[in-house]
Amino acid sequence: MIRVEKLNKSFGDLHVLKDVDLTVKESDVVVLVGASGSGKSTLLRCLNFLEIKNDGKIFIDGEQIEKETHDLNKIRERVGMVFQHFNLFPHKTVIENVIEAPTQVKGLKKAQALEEGKELLDKVGLGDKYDVYPSTLSGGQKQRVAIARALAMKPDVMLFDEPTSALDPELVGEVLATMKELALEGMTMVVVTHEMGFAREVGDWVFYMHDGKIVEYGHPNDLFDNPKEERTKAFLSSIL
Ligand code: ATP
Ligand code: MG
Repeated sequence: MIRVEKLNKSFGDLHVLKDVDLTVKESDVVVLVGASGSGKSTLLRCLNFLEIKNDGKIFIDGEQIEKETHDLNKIRERVGMVFQHFNLFPHKTVIENVIEAPTQVKGLKKAQALEEGKELLDKVGLGDKYDVYPSTLSGGQKQRVAIARALAMKPDVMLFDEPTSALDPELVGEVLATMKELALEGMTMVVVTHEMGFAREVGDWVFYMHDGKIVEYGHPNDLFDNPKEERTKAFLSSIL
């Protein structure tokens, strides 16, 4: 589904991603962990071309994607993203937020977008919140709207960048439950998170990043219980 080979990304003199290799198979949930500044967000942003790599290869469904040869807006439709700070349009209602991209970008008819949007809001447990403005929602509800909005584009893959980090602790569970449900339905996902319980329970693979490199990866229980690299051990003992 996604394959990354020797991905390199710099900002000026700062070499942020260093020969990163990553494979995400269909229906896999890949969890990316690592210290602040290790390059997790940059890697996700390269995967949906919000940032453009300097070097390396990115394959999506077996096709090598390059900015010179591909319409990156089309690629971004296939690779949905959910951010820490939900980035909802404050002056639009919940349902208007959800149907914005399908109608404006994909040209979906409004009636159909509304029907699909309502289904998605039902699915994330917000069936009764179609017509309210985001400011009236809790953080957990806003994030679930953001998930529904990303799903409205019918992406092949969903990227999550610390989707629960900005939430009060009591609201984290509802967002993780929504993500887990999506995973159980077979959505391919790459998730940056500090929620190790989620990583263990829902993740198929955990990748540990340090200083722009993938240090180690494995099945969650193997990596968490039996890390091989010293760096991984040190990181895990600092967070678990
Ligand atoms: P965190 O856990 O804090 O979110 P991260 O692992 O997501 O960290 P990144 O946001 O990918 O880390 O940042 C990696 C490095 O790249 C950092 O040193 C950061 O300052 C730098 N960086 C990220 N984006 C930019 C940018 N647009 N311009 C310049 N430097 C950047
Ligand atoms: Mg980040």
